Amino acid sequence: MEPLDCVFCAIARGDLPSYRVLDGDDVIAFLDIHPVAPGHTLVVPRRHAATLLEMPEAMAGPLFAAVARVARAVARAQGADGVNVLQANGPAAGQTVGHLHVHVVPRRHGDGLRLHIPSGPEATDRTAMAAQAERIAAALAAL
Ligand code: 5GP
Ligand code: ZN
Repeated sequence: MEPLDCVFCAIARGDLPSYRVLDGDDVIAFLDIHPVAPGHTLVVPRRHAATLLEMPEAMAGPLFAAVARVARAVARAQGADGVNVLQANGPAAGQTVGHLHVHVVPRRHGDGLRLHIPSGPEATDRTAMAAQAERIAAALAAL
């Protein structure tokens, strides 16, 4: 169910303005209103899902295909050296708009943006790693 106050649903319906770059049947894309770099674009399924965890699996193909197409276009339009694709699920992960969206951010060498995935210390506890993998695999099997 779509919440009445969802800003990205309103943008998808055309009830709120946006700088739209893609207007597909299932997926739209528009410029982020607080860009971290010129060309920072949000790729958004039309149908409301709060996060990736609630998204129907059938949406994964159209959404990721659109992300890849938009990434190619943003890179070309901005003359980028690289592209970050970022996605947050839940406030603890930094999500501020509760309608699934994927950020496409063009990057330049030396642009100073700190979007790299940080690396932790090497995991050396093999028992803990095996147990963790087992828990996740079991959870996957139970979905
Ligand atoms: P999140 O932090 O949830 O991953 O990202 C939400 C993004 O949506 C933010 O980067 C924010 O700038 C953007 N945003 C929030 N409200 C609007 C809006 O009304 N229009 C547009 N174009 N972007 C928005
Ligand atoms: Zn929505």
